[in-house]
Amino acid sequence: MNRKRESRTKRDEKLFYIDALKSEQCQCERQKKRGRAFCYRCYIRLPRDLRDELYRPVGAGFEAAYDASCRFLYD
Ligand SMILES: [Zn+2]
Repeated sequence: MNRKRESRTKRDEKLFYIDALKSEQCQCERQKKRGRAFCYRCYIRLPRDLRDELYRPVGAGFEAAYDASCRFLYD
């Protein structure tokens, strides 16, 4: 039971990041391009190493990069 619930949570989490990429609205509510994590104005505020990390695929590091970027930009 627990195991099943965990994998579903993981899948939902993955969908959250895929949706964030597909969306045309940035977390800051400006328009952004589909396939980009953030709008340009947010993106250029990020440190270089984080920007590079955002090119990782979902499931291979994108999640952590996205979370770190959100903390950097909006906290
Ligand atoms: Zn933005």
